[in-house]
Amino acid sequence: MTPDRKAPRRILLSVPHMGGGERRYVDEAFDQNWMSTAGPNLTALEAEFGRITGEPCVALGSGTAAIHLGLRLMGIGPGDEVVTPTLTFAASTNPIRYEHATPVFMDSDRATWNLDPGLLARFLADRARANRLPKAVMVVHLFGQSADLDPILAECRRYGLPLLEDAAEALGARYGDAVPGTLGDIGVFSFNGNKMITGTTGGLLSCRRKDWADSARKWSTQARDADPLGVNNYVHSELGFNYRMSNVVAGIVRGQLEVLEDRVLARRAVFERYRAGLADVPGFEPQPEPMFGRPGTRHTRWLSCFLVDAGKFGMSAVDLIRRLDSENIESRPVWRPMHTQPIYRAFECVGGDVAEDLNARGICLPSSSSLAAGDQEFVIGSIRRAAGVA
Ligand SMILES: *Cc1c(COP(=O)(O)O)cnc(C)c1O
Repeated sequence: MTPDRKAPRRILLSVPHMGGGERRYVDEAFDQNWMSTAGPNLTALEAEFGRITGEPCVALGSGTAAIHLGLRLMGIGPGDEVVTPTLTFAASTNPIRYEHATPVFMDSDRATWNLDPGLLARFLADRARANRLPKAVMVVHLFGQSADLDPILAECRRYGLPLLEDAAEALGARYGDAVPGTLGDIGVFSFNGNKMITGTTGGLLSCRRKDWADSARKWSTQARDADPLGVNNYVHSELGFNYRMSNVVAGIVRGQLEVLEDRVLARRAVFERYRAGLADVPGFEPQPEPMFGRPGTRHTRWLSCFLVDAGKFGMSAVDLIRRLDSENIESRPVWRPMHTQPIYRAFECVGGDVAEDLNARGICLPSSSSLAAGDQEFVIGSIRRAAGVA
């Protein structure tokens, strides 16, 4: 494919955007030699993040580690079934397999692109009749859009099932005036380099139960019990992991938290410019932003996502991604459903083909909070040219 034009520098999907305040906390760590997985930035970050979630928080090495510890807190073990959306990133699902538990994949709804509450209700009713309830439910709030949590929570409560919320992509989102990641039993956040804010890497677990948070913190540092002799002759009565966040990373995340609201508003503004600049392009529809009848609900637009109707647009999403690539623009499809992945093909998937359709037709556009206006105009122009719209 010969590009019409080419961006002089590659326009990336989602890049880190430092706020300036990070260095102070990192310098403090250097100055005081807190260059490990203990230190004041960790304590402060857990307190500061706790003001967002209103719950005890545990700073960890990654969002994936947080999901893994969250599943262990919920008592998930070998052979246990965990309901989980098929439309997500592999990091949501893999920790289920770390525990040799069994994912039961479930389709998305078109309103949120997230776990379909109606499907969940029917599935759990069937399983309750057969006396074969799963052990837990996981929701994922994709691209900054909350799942419809109320009906999902109602179903979990009806059958006494714990709910884990993977909010790795949804920091800054709202479900009414509630924070996605705080309504279920466990909430997980990520500070990976391409997320809303970053620590270069990092994750966090938030949960209402303080005893669970304390267990997660203990497990994340090799599960050392107090030694009765008081000489650090380590006693281990539980299985531990090396999952704690570094105090240096915690410093970066602290600085990033100071600009979180700015970053959300910037990404929402990026989305709004795409929407306005592409509104007249046939067959190019944005991911919806349902309000659930709850004022205050907010999609963060971590990634600006659209659906391509090839018949009206003139080419498929995949061809558009290839064409943008040839013009030095990075974009990618909406997540490939887990039940179509080679490692997960053997597992059950409940529901229809919404997730497969979203994957086939979805495109995520460059969405960085630092995206230059001129670069975004170039992306909009490229999409308009691809569609043959002047
Ligand atoms: C990024 C991401 C994770 C994992 O977070 P890491 O911090 O990279 O381990 C989990 N789930 C989803 C949906 C994500 O996008």
